[in-house]
Amino acid sequence: MRIGAHVDQADPLAEAAARSAEAVQFFLSDPQGWKAPKPREDAERLRAAEVDLYVHAPYVINVATLNNRIRIPSRKLLLGHAAAAAGIGAKGLIVHGGHVNAGDDLAVGFDNWRKTFAYAADSGGFPLPVLIENTAGGDNSCARRLDALARLWDALGDHEVGFCLDTCHAYAGGEELLDLVDRVKAITGRIDLVHANNSKGGFNSGHDRHDNLDGGTIDPDLVVAVIRAAGAPVIVETPGGAAGQGADIAFLRDRLVTGA
Ligand SMILES: [Zn+2]
Repeated sequence: MRIGAHVDQADPLAEAAARSAEAVQFFLSDPQGWKAPKPREDAERLRAAEVDLYVHAPYVINVATLNNRIRIPSRKLLLGHAAAAAGIGAKGLIVHGGHVNAGDDLAVGFDNWRKTFAYAADSGGFPLPVLIENTAGGDNSCARRLDALARLWDALGDHEVGFCLDTCHAYAGGEELLDLVDRVKAITGRIDLVHANNSKGGFNSGHDRHDNLDGGTIDPDLVVAVIRAAGAPVIVETPGGAAGQGADIAFLRDRLVTGA
């Protein structure tokens, strides 16, 4: 099982080494901005690296919204990131499930997701797995709780779609972690990546605030149990830089290897 961390995008391989990480996730642009990713000078080195690479799409992307001025650029930005992520040999592109605005029909949001994959298919399909991630907050989210996730996967139909399970988002979003993997897999059939994070916010608080694994409101044993059940690679998106994340990685490796 590959375990790694979300790191700064400037030199991801150095960040991986600093944490003894076997995988890294990073942004290819400003996560709060709409700029397309620039070609990376270290693309060849990244492609050749033994460390597994994952790219997180910008937070501003919301392909579900009924607002054309957000949805259309979101699709384009997602496709641009997919091309750039594939170009550096990334194993997956993670994107949040998105939401519709208050008063808008969530069914249209799910259909907008379908259209995003149909739009990509028209131009040859996404060049790497796109992993939709569950989110913590909001009343109109496409992937906060499993009832919405089931409707999203229904809408996506036969399109090839991956799933990234974030333990903080699930718990803060109002899903118990016990047996969560089975309940998710009954819907998605797969979990491609686990974001292993503790949560500063309480159960169903809706707060997306990550904490180190031995901090926060979640019993860390439950996070370990989720990882074991998922059998997927792990990325910690926890605070504390190389020291804090390195400790989280070491904690998981110890628990997962020794079975303690
Ligand atoms: Zn996450």
